[in-house]
Formats: sequence, structure tokens, C-alpha cells
Amino acid sequence: MFFVEHPKLEAWNPNVSYLGQTNPQWTRLLSGDRVLTNSLEWAVWRENPVQVVLCEICGQDGCAAGGYVHVSRTAQYVVWTSPQIDEADDWYDEAYAIVPRGALLFRRSDWDEWSRGRTAMPPSEELPPVTGRVLGDAWRLGMPAANRADKLVELPDFVGERAVASDSLTVNELQAALRGIVDQLVRRADIPVPGDFVHGDGQAETVYFDVPLGQEWQAFRGSPEAPYPAVGGGWAYETEWPNSA
Ligand SMILES: [Zn+2]
Repeated sequence: MFFVEHPKLEAWNPNVSYLGQTNPQWTRLLSGDRVLTNSLEWAVWRENPVQVVLCEICGQDGCAAGGYVHVSRTAQYVVWTSPQIDEADDWYDEAYAIVPRGALLFRRSDWDEWSRGRTAMPPSEELPPVTGRVLGDAWRLGMPAANRADKLVELPDFVGERAVASDSLTVNELQAALRGIVDQLVRRADIPVPGDFVHGDGQAETVYFDVPLGQEWQAFRGSPEAPYPAVGGGWAYETEWPNSA
């Protein structure tokens, strides 16, 4: 998870004469030098997944390959995660901006400022709420690249086979806590998960792997009995799971 604390807007003129737009004005959104989307105006924000990097020759949604994200929101943030698509359909590749970080987080107040005056961009309250699947994607992609499970449901066994230790738990206890999180996320895959993203360093249960050295993982916060997922960069999704579901 990477928090886009200092987003930057930049007006530019793409060469999209093919569509007959005269003197088109697009706005790109950047974090540092990294382009997060090349057109706040022309991306189709009301669809999920959203192609955030549009073809700069014709300006049409779906012309370029890849550049997709899933867009959702919490009470305070808008979050971009992996596009929710059939994994076999690699045409919908993730936008490169989220690949190294797993997910991107924006303030809703920033988003709403950008949406004003841009009819294609819905205000944040119209975006879908964060679900278990969104959190599962952000959590799994927040694992270190060299020690990342391929699928959410495989995560507890994957970690159990490779972890040598964690801060305060045996590997068995750790696996049980991870299974608890996976169960909740799978059960709530398509429904909103109450709670919000919170930031804080040094509060997560850290998992140490055997190879390669230095690739530890901040796995969760809360207690082993009531854990909530840490999603990287010092962020976690604070929630209280109902005891029964
Ligand atoms: Zn094109």
C-alpha cells in the first residue's frame, strides 16, 4: 500500500486527432514522477475495472492493453487495487503504478476536488465500498515479492511452509491467525467490510522468512484472536469481525 500524500495534477495535450477532439485538454495525475492516470477526464471511472492509462493515439478506453485498477472507497479514502477479473484474461493487466506497491490510497477530499467540474469522474460517495476481495488483494500484494502467495486461500499454508519465526507467535499460532483473516475476507468477498485504513509503524506482527534474508512481512495488527490485515507501507485495515457470520 502506498499513500499518495502529495498528488500532482498536470494539464497536457495528447495527439488524439483520430477521435476528432479539437485541441483536447487532458489532466494527468502523478505521484512524484510516476503517472497514475493519464486522463482524469477520459478514464471511465464508473466501470470496474477502470483503465487508468488510456491510449494516447486515439484516446479511447480499451484500445491500449493493460493499465487497469479496481476503484473503491472507505469513509476517508479512495483505494486502487488489482482489477477484479479472470486471471486468464491478461489483457486486463494491472496498471504498472500499483504493481510494486500492491495498492494506492488517496484522500477522498483530494478525489472530490478532482471530480468537481469533470463529469466523467463520480464523487467519491458514488464509488463502491471496500469489500473482502479488495482487502484480500491489497493484503496479498503487500507481501514481499520474493515471498508472496499466488492466491489468498493459499496464503496461510504458503507462510507456514516458509516462515521461520514471527515476533510473538509460533508458526502454528501464526498460521491460525492468518487463516482467521482469510476466512473472514473470503466470507465477505463481495460485501462491504466496515472499518478503515489506519497508519502506524511498528505495531504489526512481523513474519520472518528463511529465504531470501531481509524480506520480512508485516502480516497483521490487533491480537492473534482478532487480527486485521496489514497491507504494507505501515498501513492496515482496522476492522472488528463479527463473531458469527
Ligand atoms: Zn488507440
